[in-house]
Amino acid sequence: MKYSNNEEQFDAIVVGSGTCGATLARELSAQNKKVLILERGGNAPLKESLMGYAKISNEIKVTDKLKDLRAFTTGGTTAMYLAVADPPPLETFQNLGINLTKDFAQVQKEIPIAEIKDGLIGKQAKRLGESARQLGYDWKKKLMMIDQSRFNQKNYYEVKWKARSYIEEALKNGAKLTNQAMVEKVIYKGNKAIGVEYTLGKKKKIYKAYGEKIILSAGSLATPIILKNSGVKNVVDHGFYINPSIGLIGSVPGLSSGENFCGCMGSKINDEIELLDANFHRFLFNVGMMVSAKPLRIPSYSKHIGITVKVNEPVGGQLTENGKYIKNLTEEDHRKLNKGLETANEILKNTGARKIFKTSLISGGALGTIKINRHIDENLQTEYNNLYVCDGSVLPDNDRVTPTLTLVCLAKYLSRHLIAS
Ligand SMILES: Cc1cc2nc3c(=O)[nH]c(=O)nc-3n(C[C@H](O)[C@H](O)[C@H](O)COP(=O)(O)OP(=O)(O)OC[C@H]3O[C@@H](n4cnc5c(N)ncnc54)[C@H](O)[C@@H]3O)c2cc1C
Repeated sequence: MKYSNNEEQFDAIVVGSGTCGATLARELSAQNKKVLILERGGNAPLKESLMGYAKISNEIKVTDKLKDLRAFTTGGTTAMYLAVADPPPLETFQNLGINLTKDFAQVQKEIPIAEIKDGLIGKQAKRLGESARQLGYDWKKKLMMIDQSRFNQKNYYEVKWKARSYIEEALKNGAKLTNQAMVEKVIYKGNKAIGVEYTLGKKKKIYKAYGEKIILSAGSLATPIILKNSGVKNVVDHGFYINPSIGLIGSVPGLSSGENFCGCMGSKINDEIELLDANFHRFLFNVGMMVSAKPLRIPSYSKHIGITVKVNEPVGGQLTENGKYIKNLTEEDHRKLNKGLETANEILKNTGARKIFKTSLISGGALGTIKINRHIDENLQTEYNNLYVCDGSVLPDNDRVTPTLTLVCLAKYLSRHLIAS
């Protein structure tokens, strides 16, 4: 069906080309579905450089003082993520009526997911692990979405799985990608979603695109705003979570280490406090030192060791009428952060680290803005027929994991449902 001379009709319009959008586009196009991907960001090749990051990174306020970081580009936030992969919380999803078992099994065949081999772990990470274990902490390797078979001691960035590779597959399958396309709202006919309205490029000219299924995968902070603009009621009315995080970094005299897959190890102090290896490779370390106003530390990269403290804070906060997110951290949240910092300090000092300093507090990923079985059903469909949400917004708060692997599984789950229907 055509809606005007210029407007094509698609089987599915996917809003956003990040983890979920890319997976959906790949799966649907592989089944010969006609897919349009609308992506707010550009399509420049990704590069781990200051300019490269500056072009794609975007920060959005989630508390008075904290901002959440995301990326606007083909491939979404995986363009700058660390590739740490917690297994999906299958039971939590099962309790919501969503069985991800098949999807997880499939993803494990398609994406290299493993602990980093001993020989590829940097000296800083090793020293940190030894120190933590000496003190009795259960410091274990994490899974990572990294193709270690292609690693050549330099290509830390290239060997990470990134959603962009799935977009490339979708394009080969015939999907259409439009960059610089910012979706503003959904178009309905009665109770049925039939398309989206978007602006293109700097001139912000308004366009419309029509599809049988509309899937919002714009990320956990963008999707609720599109829903709100589209008349969906009560979005974010239960709040969201941000996992506040802080780093502790010190310098170990005599240590001379190379680079590292940051986040490759860690330990849970309890259900609410997690410590993670924060031994960034050189580029991200340099960025971190600039942001922390410690540029003089940059030349002694190889002596530095770091830990991130990440805590679970209760769900809360709201999306205001004028589209701003607000959340307050409580004294209890700060108490948990301080407890994590005490442990991190103990572990760092035991490595021999000196001149230890705290980085700024950051949002460790704002998620859970949309609730399954409240705003969307177990097929991820909203109160409007044919309008779906699939991205970090729908992640439940009771079993928090690093999101990417779970999101790839969830997008595969939705694709299966859409193809079957
Ligand atoms: C520094 C950093 C490190 C991280 N490390 C890890 C890690 O180690 N492990 C892990 O699992 N997770 C990690 N994450 C988080 C992870 O990358 C994200 O949670 C995940 O990619 C979210 O996927 P998504 O599909 O919800 O959204 P995104 O991947 O953010 O994709 C959303 C896409 O939608 C586009 N978009 C937004 N608004 C619109 C609009 N109105 N119209 C059209 N397009 C739009 C955006 O440009 C973007 O491309 C990290 C995040 C950061 C910032």
